Amino acid sequence: MKKAIYPGSFDPVTYGHLDIIRRAASIFDEITVSVLNNRGKSPLFSVSERVNILKEVTKDLPNVTVDSFDGLLVDHAIKSGADVVIRGLRAITDFEYELQLAQTNRKLCEKVDTVFLTTSLDYAYLSSSTVKEVASYGGDISKFVPQYVADQIYYKFKKGE
Ligand code: ADP
Repeated sequence: MKKAIYPGSFDPVTYGHLDIIRRAASIFDEITVSVLNNRGKSPLFSVSERVNILKEVTKDLPNVTVDSFDGLLVDHAIKSGADVVIRGLRAITDFEYELQLAQTNRKLCEKVDTVFLTTSLDYAYLSSSTVKEVASYGGDISKFVPQYVADQIYYKFKKGE
């Protein structure tokens, strides 16, 4: 059985991430979407909120589970029984960083390999930060995230006012 892990901040999850999750779920037997507790960033949603949102929007995918982790990705991958890391590549600008990350992870643990899925053209422009920026000005984000996610984002911004 081939198990893969899809790590990221997912603050919040977008249609771009969901496209990668769906496609990875049709390639691998099991996918774990893992929310990184990144202490360097100040997120809009807490880790547990992001996990809950991801669970809600992936509930129709039986071979997808969601968790979170702190520390090294390779350690979490091994602990989860996954020997493949999935990452999405939007544009050439993602490439340098992703290549460095993948090579570092392989130096840390040879058993864990990274598989890149290229973004569908429909979502190539999409990032969590632009979604947050548009929402913060009250703009329409319905083309970027599922309605459930949009509601959570608007609620956060309303609460912060
Ligand atoms: P990170 O902080 O790890 O970059 P993100 O949540 O922004 O976390 O992204 C997680 C993964 O999803 C990365 O591999 C990223 O390249 C990919 N990704 C982000 N946005 C998109 C998108 N619109 N389409 C496809 N992949 C994406």
